[in-house]
Formats: sequence, C-alpha cells, structure tokens
Amino acid sequence: MPVQYDAYETVIGLEVHAQLLTMSKLFSGDSASFGGEPNTHISPITLALPGTLPKLNKKAVEYAIKMGLACHCEITGLNYFARKNYFYPDLPKGYQLSQHTTPICKGGYVAIRTEEEKNIPLNRIHLEEDAGKSLHDVDPENTSVDYNRAGVPLIEIVTEPALNSGEEAYAFLTEVRKLLRYLEICDGNMEEGSMRCDANISIRKKGVTTLGTKVEVKNLNSIRNVKKAIEYEAKRMIELVETGENIVQQTRSFDASNGTTFPLRTKEEANDYRYFADPDLTPFVVTEDMLQNIKSMLPALPEERVHHYTQELQLSEYDARVIAEEKDFADYFEQLIQHVNNHKASANWMLGPVKSYLNENNLSINYFPVSAPTIAELISLIDQGKLNFSVASTRILASLIKDPGQSPMEIAGVLNLIQDSDEDNITAWVNEVLFKMPEKVLEYKKGKKGLIGLFVGEVKKASKGKADPKLTNEILLKKLQ
Ligand code: ADP
Ligand code: MG
Repeated sequence: MPVQYDAYETVIGLEVHAQLLTMSKLFSGDSASFGGEPNTHISPITLALPGTLPKLNKKAVEYAIKMGLACHCEITGLNYFARKNYFYPDLPKGYQLSQHTTPICKGGYVAIRTEEEKNIPLNRIHLEEDAGKSLHDVDPENTSVDYNRAGVPLIEIVTEPALNSGEEAYAFLTEVRKLLRYLEICDGNMEEGSMRCDANISIRKKGVTTLGTKVEVKNLNSIRNVKKAIEYEAKRMIELVETGENIVQQTRSFDASNGTTFPLRTKEEANDYRYFADPDLTPFVVTEDMLQNIKSMLPALPEERVHHYTQELQLSEYDARVIAEEKDFADYFEQLIQHVNNHKASANWMLGPVKSYLNENNLSINYFPVSAPTIAELISLIDQGKLNFSVASTRILASLIKDPGQSPMEIAGVLNLIQDSDEDNITAWVNEVLFKMPEKVLEYKKGKKGLIGLFVGEVKKASKGKADPKLTNEILLKKLQ
C-alpha cells in the first residue's frame, strides 16, 4: 500500500540562538568580538577561576528586551540566572549560565507570510552565555579548545510547537533574522554561526490534537537547510509509522552533503543539568523606566514601515515589502522622499537602478556611492522633462557612480543628454515627421491607432533623442485629431 503522507500533519518548534553584538561578554569585560587568535579573549572571569565574580552586561539585557518588544512579548520584571551543569571540554566553567525559570521575555509572536499570514507564538526569549569551541583539525592527535567564544551573550528564541511545514520554518527564520538586523543586535549570519537553529519535529495524524514524539535536529547552518531537514524528517517519520514502527525521541544531526539526518543520541543518554540559581549573581530587575527608555530607542520596524509606505505613500504592497526588507535600504528610501515628492518614482529607483547596481556588485546600500539628494535631483529633473528616465538611469547614473561629486545637470550637459521640452521645437519635429509619412497618417486616421508608437519613435530620431517623449505624445495626439 502506498504511504499516506497526506494523512499526517508536521508539527515543529524552533529554538533559535542569536549572538548579541555587544562589545564585551555577558559576565566579563572580555572582548565578545568574533575570531581573534585562539584564547586571547579570555580572562580569569571567563574561565571562572576561583576568586572571580561574574558581573552582568547591561547592554545584553537591553538587546534581549529590544527583541522581546519587537516580538510583542511580556518583559519579566524580576530575573535571575541559573547554572546549567554539565561537563564538556568547550565549557571552561563546568556550567552554563542561563535564565532557567525566569526568561526575560515571555509569550509574544512573530508574524510570517507564506500563502497566508500566520502569527507564530513564542514560548520565551531568554539570555544565556555561549560555550567555547572544540577544534578537531588543528592537531590530528588531539582536540584543541578555543575559549574566545565562551561567555559571549546569546538570546535563545523558543517557539511553541506551532509551525507546520519547512516553508513556514523558512519564513519564520527569515523574519527573525530581519528583526535581529533591524534592531542591530545580531548580524544574523547562520553560515558563520552567529544565528543558529535547532528544529524539533514531530508528526501526527490530521485531526489529532496531542503532540507526537519529537526528534530534535541540530547542525543546521542555513535557513534553507532547516527547511530541507524538516521535510526529510517528516517524511522519514511518516514512513516509520506507516510501516508499524515506533518513533523514538532522539537528537539527530543534519548532513548537508546529502540532505539527510542521522542519530546523535537518544533520550536515555540525556543530561541531568542540576539547575540552581547562581549564588554569585544577584537577581536583576527590569524597571518601568528602563523599559520606557528602551522602547523609545526602537527604530521603526518592518511591519510599521510597510504600513506607512502602503497607506500614506500609496506604494504597492510588493514594493513596500521589498523596500522595508533591510533597515538601511529603507532608511535611504526615506531620505530620498525627503528631497523629492514623487514617492512612486522614488520606489522605482530604489527597486530598479539602485538595487540592480547593489546586486551586481554584491554591495549593501551603505556602499552605494551616490547620495540620496543626488538621486532625488535626478527624479526631479525627469519630472520636469529635462531628462528621460532611460538616460538618467544608465549613462548619467553610471557617471555619478564613477564620480559622485558631479551634478546631474553638469553630466547631462557634457554628454549632450538634456531633453528638449520646448513646445515649439517639438511641434516642429512633429510636423516634419507627419509631413514625411502621409500614408501612415491616413492609416492612423482610419483607425490604426498603434501607429502612434512609430510616430513617437520618428520624432525621437529627428530630435536625436532629445524630444521629451511625454510632450511628443501629447502634441502628436493633438495634431492627428
Ligand atoms: P526540551 O525540554 O526537550 O528542550 P521543550 O519543551 O523545552 O523541550 O521544547 C523545546 C522546543 O521543542 C520548543 O520549541 C517546543 O515548541 C518544541 N517541541 C516540544 N515538543 C514538541 C513536539 N512534540 N513536536 C514538535 N516540537 C516540539
Ligand atoms: Mg532543546
């Protein structure tokens, strides 16, 4: 009998770790920056040598709260850290400090859009410290350890088991990464490990409301791989159940080379972490003042910008979403429309010539050489009929990119690209063209209205490309009545 995949529903809960972009570590002044010579970002505090005491990094708390506010969470007032005890070579203290029962953010949700919109409920966001790194390829005989990463602040974002497909997980992670970057609290790079994701997956017959036995998949180093792993696992589990086998609770690892997963450990080997409140750290309190202060520092978030662009600026939903994708890109657009009133043309410039240039050169908007006021000037010149879009977005823009100090009109003058929008001049060209093609004019008058394109083209030629096409069109229509 064929496997009835359609009879099942996949249920997924994600655990996302994001490294916070603070200068120093969560409990010490050691540098939290990525890389560096091995074991150079460590002091006795990071190693928790006897006699040292941890001290909480306020910035990390602020960053965690920012993410919580962006995800509509409730912020916890009274917080403490617990020791999660386990032995592993990359953990110099022998325990990890994590917020066990008092996550700094509770509940909340992240809105995603696949075919439909859906709010993915969060269980919590908590603060914890990262572990160091075991290195297996430095010395073939031994494992080496680099503790630079040990103690770097992380937030862990934990969803409810409420996602139902690889595609939803993909959309969720894309959205989370967008928020992290908007808030400038994490660079969101999964390939480099500054954002990591474990996927908890189970299946159940459609209509069943209890949760099935879950499998946790680790070592997912891209958003695409999370989607692939979920799809692979769901299929594997359905096939197991359909052949009468049991699913065992397991931790599995994703093999990116062939898109499959393999077991790492089963539940019986699970650790007993012996959590207890860290006696060296006092509980910390998030006051209403702190919260208000952090709220006032939040930038306008993507959803808010999309709303503003569609409702007040009348952009299409699609344009608004693409512009709001990245904060700096959206900021550039907003700067642009401070200098020119044509919102639609501004959006077209952002999504057309500007974005193409950035994509071709693999640059972010921060490296776009031409300033927003200069692009605004180009847009105004087009609106005044002095330039046409096609030369402005190609030859003039290319010249500005090479030498951003020039003015658009200067370039247009030198390259002889200033458009003629003098009514008398254009009328003369129009008369010349119509006089030369009497049969075509007759055909037009008999109803072949498509010939207007030919006439416009001929006027363009006669004027050596200078005749303002909009005005040309108007004058032609008048003459041909
Ligand atoms: P654990 O104690 O094993 O880490 P948690 O209850 O803390 O488990 O949940 C960890 C993650 O796994 C959460 O994102 C949660 O939504 C998800 N999860 C829990 N049970 C299931 C299940 N049966 N199927 C899918 N996801 C689950
Ligand atoms: Mg877990």
